[in-house]
Amino acid sequence: MGTNFQRTMEITEGFLKPMIDAFRDEMPAPFEEFGHLYAAAAAENVDRYEDIAGAMTDESRRVALFEFGLVPQPFLAFGCAPLCLETYPFFFTRTNMETVYEFIEAGESAGVSSETCSTDRFIIGAAVKGELPGNSFFVTSSSPCDSTRISYPILQKMFECPMLYLDAPFRYDREAVRYYASQLKEQLIPFLETVTGRKLDIDRFREVITESNKAYEHLVDVHDTYKVLPAPHNGFLRLVPFFIYISGAGNPGTTRTLKLLSEDAARRVKEGRTQGPFEERHRALWVHVTPTFDIELFGWMEERFGAMVVSNSLSSSAILEPIDTTSLDSMLEGIAWQGLDMTMSIMRYDTEKLIQFSLNAYEDYRCDCMIVTQHVGCNSICGAQGMIRKVCRDRDIPVLFIELDYNDDRVLSKERLRSQIEDFFTTVMD
Ligand code: SF4
Repeated sequence: MGTNFQRTMEITEGFLKPMIDAFRDEMPAPFEEFGHLYAAAAAENVDRYEDIAGAMTDESRRVALFEFGLVPQPFLAFGCAPLCLETYPFFFTRTNMETVYEFIEAGESAGVSSETCSTDRFIIGAAVKGELPGNSFFVTSSSPCDSTRISYPILQKMFECPMLYLDAPFRYDREAVRYYASQLKEQLIPFLETVTGRKLDIDRFREVITESNKAYEHLVDVHDTYKVLPAPHNGFLRLVPFFIYISGAGNPGTTRTLKLLSEDAARRVKEGRTQGPFEERHRALWVHVTPTFDIELFGWMEERFGAMVVSNSLSSSAILEPIDTTSLDSMLEGIAWQGLDMTMSIMRYDTEKLIQFSLNAYEDYRCDCMIVTQHVGCNSICGAQGMIRKVCRDRDIPVLFIELDYNDDRVLSKERLRSQIEDFFTTVMD
C-alpha cells in the first residue's frame, strides 16, 4: 500500500512542472509557435493536482472524486478540490505506462473481471495501491455503463469513504434533465453539506457557475474555429479545451487557459493563418475514445497523411447553452444538462441518437472519414458497430473500426494501431 497520491505528485513535480518551461522556451520544430499553448495546458494540470494535494491535508476542505455524468462546479462551490476519476488514467498513460499496467493488474487481482472497462480496473487498482487521494469522497451516477455501475459499489465496499449514487435518466429531454436536477437538489447538496460541514452558499454557487459560463463561451468559440479549413491548432491541442473544461469548469485558472486557446485560434482565423505545419488533406471524426497511450498519434497522422482529427464525438457539452444563473433550480438544471451530456454520458441513451450526434459532428466539422474505436470492455460502442457501419455505407462515409483498449497498449500496440491507420489512409482514402 503506497502513500496517497504520492506517484501522482512525483510525476507532477518531476515531469509536468519542468515541461511547462520546456514547452514555452524549447518547443521542438515544427510546433514552436504553439509552445505557449502547450505550456498553459501543462500548467493547468499542475495547478489541479497541487490543489488536490493541498486539499488532502487541509481540514477545512475535501477532495471530490466524481465520474462522468457530473461536472466540477458543485464541488468547487463547496470548497472541494475536484478530480474527475475517469480522466485520471490518462495522467499515467501519458507519463508512465508501467504504473498503468500495475494498477490494472491490481484491480484484476482484487477480483474485478478483465471484461470490465480498463478505466474502472485502473481506478480500483489505484485505490488498492493507495494512490487515490485521501480526505476524499465519491459521487457517481448510473451513467454511462455497466462497468461504472459495478465498480463504484466495489470501491465503496473496499474503502470506508462516503459515496453518493445518482440515477441518470436514460432519456434525453427536458423532463429527464429536471429529474436529474431534482436529485442534485435533494441528494447531492445535502450530501455535500454533510461531507464538507458547510451550508450551501447560493452566492458562492452562482459565482462558480458564472465563472464556468465564461469558460464555456471560450470552449464553444474554440470549437467553432475547428470548422474552418484548414483548422487552427494541431490534433492534440484540439483535444485540450474540452478536457480542461470538464476537469476545472468554474475555476478562474481554467477560464484563463481556455481564453488563451480560443483567442489564439480566433486570431489565426482572422489573420488567415490557420494552416499548421502540415497540409490538411483529410478530416477524420474520431468517434468514441481516442487512444491515450500514443500521445504523438495525431501529429503522426497529420504529417504522414495530412489527416486532421478535428473533433471527437464525445465533446458534446460544447453544443449546450450556458447555465442560467437566475435561481438555484435553473443552475441545477444547467449542471444536470452538462453532466448528462458530458463525454461518455452520452453512451447511456439509445445508439440511434449517438449515431445522429456523430453524423451532425461529421457535417459540422466537414469531415471526410470516420475512425470508430471499438474499446474492449465498452459494450455500448462495440454493440453499435453494425448500425454505424450501415449508416456510413448508406451515406458513403469511409469508416475505420479499430479494436483496442484506449488505456492499455497491450491489447493493441502503438505500432499495430498505426499500421491499421496507415492501411486505411493509403488504400481507402488515397
Ligand atoms: S469507455 Fe465505455 S465501458 Fe468504459 S467507462 Fe466509458 S462508457 Fe463505460
